[in-house]
Order: sequence, then C-alpha cells, then structure tokens
Amino acid sequence: MDRGELLYEGKAKQVYRTPDPHLLIQHFKDDATAFNAQKRGTIASKGIINNRVSEVLFQLLEEHGVATHLVERLSDRDMLVHACRIVKIEVVVRNVIAGSLAKRLGRAEGEPLPEPILEHYLKDDALGDPLLNDWHVRFLGLTNPDELATINATALRVNGILRTYLDARDIVLVDFKLEFGRPVDAGRGALLVADEICPDTCRLWDKATGHKLDKDRFRRDLGGVEEAYQEAARRICGIAA
Ligand code: C5P
Repeated sequence: MDRGELLYEGKAKQVYRTPDPHLLIQHFKDDATAFNAQKRGTIASKGIINNRVSEVLFQLLEEHGVATHLVERLSDRDMLVHACRIVKIEVVVRNVIAGSLAKRLGRAEGEPLPEPILEHYLKDDALGDPLLNDWHVRFLGLTNPDELATINATALRVNGILRTYLDARDIVLVDFKLEFGRPVDAGRGALLVADEICPDTCRLWDKATGHKLDKDRFRRDLGGVEEAYQEAARRICGIAA
C-alpha cells in the first residue's frame, strides 16, 4: 500500500492518505517533544520502536476483543490503520501516582493507587491539553453520554489487559494515554482505540528497580533514553526493535 497525500503532521507522527479512503498510513518519526513542544529533540530509532510496540499492544487488545485502528504494520516506520475521526479527548488511566497527578495533588511519585484513576484532557495543543471534568466534556460537545461511557469502560479494560501483559514482562504500567476514533468505514463499528500505545504515551517502570523505560527519561534529562526505549521494546515485543 503506497503513501498518498500527507494529511497531517504531528509531533511524533505523520499521517498519509492511501488509495483506499477507509485506510490511512501512520508514519512514526524519531522527533520527540515535551512540555507542549517547549523541549525538542530526537531519540534514535524511536519511530521504529513505537511502531513495533504499538503493533504488538494493539494486537494484544484485539485478541482480547478490544477493537483498534490497527490493520497491519507495513514497514519499520509505517502502520496501516483504519481511517477515523479522532475524539478530541485524551484519556489517561493511572495505576501509580506520577507526573502531573503528583504535582496536582502534591503527592509523591510512586504511591500506588488503590484503584485506577481515569482522567480526560482536551486534545488541544494551543491550550496545553487542559484537564476536563464531565461538565466541560458536555459543554464542549466532545462526545455524548453513551459514547463517553464506552470510552471510559474501554480505557479501564485496556488498562487491565496491558497491566497483566506488562507485569509478566517485569514492567509496572504506571499510567498511559489513549485516544479513540470514530471509524470512517461504518462497517468497522462505532469506536476504535487509535493513535499509538508505546513508551511515548505510557509510563513504564522496571518492577524490581523502578528504572524508567519511557519518555520521562527524555522529559527529565535522565540519560539512557535510547537504551530505555530498546529495553521496553525487547520486553514487550520479545526481540530487539
Ligand atoms: O503528564 P501526565 O502525568 O499527565 O501524563 C500521564 C500519562 O499520559 C503519561 O504516561 C504520559 O506519557 C501520557 N501523555 C501522553 N500525551 C500527552 C499527555 C500525557 O501520552 N499529551
């Protein structure tokens, strides 16, 4: 399947048309940004790793009956996906306090949560992706109550599936972000898990040591960024990416 017109260029990915209007190609770049693009850099081979890790984790979700936009990985950096209209909500699920939750609540990073916390953020770079409550979601008309209930239930189910899979690979799933899309092809159902699931969008800590295997190494200048992505890929995909 050949890449057609470039439809969209984001911070870490490009999205291309294909000859089939129901299918798009996601191209994974090595570019990395943090803090709403105030910090920029590249992480060698990140695009290859995120493409592979996303493929494996989307396949895992499909095996558990969760519909995703994955069709197939085409090459090192290209993934064929079902075309979707993305819901403008970033859904974050947390199992351990970290990142913005630690700051917002004034709590130490690393405190396990007795039950997962689910949050919604507005997908809007210009506004810095602000946190939303249900009233904001309703006011902005981002979804309807039924679809929101499906999004929330699916996100929690995805959390359970990913947690178990990663735990078996000695990784703690601290938190992660999901995006959902409404497929252009009505035959694909109402809602798909979309975008990517990878060390850019998850916090992944080594179970024994707490060593970070994710984008926080880049965000916080911790060093060993490439090695951490390689190690995450090795554990998740079973091979060096
Ligand atoms: O920064 P914060 O603690 O809110 O991030 C929670 C989770 O969501 C982290 O795993 C982070 O990688 C992910 N995230 C993301 N894209 C964003 C914001 C957060 O993938 N725009």
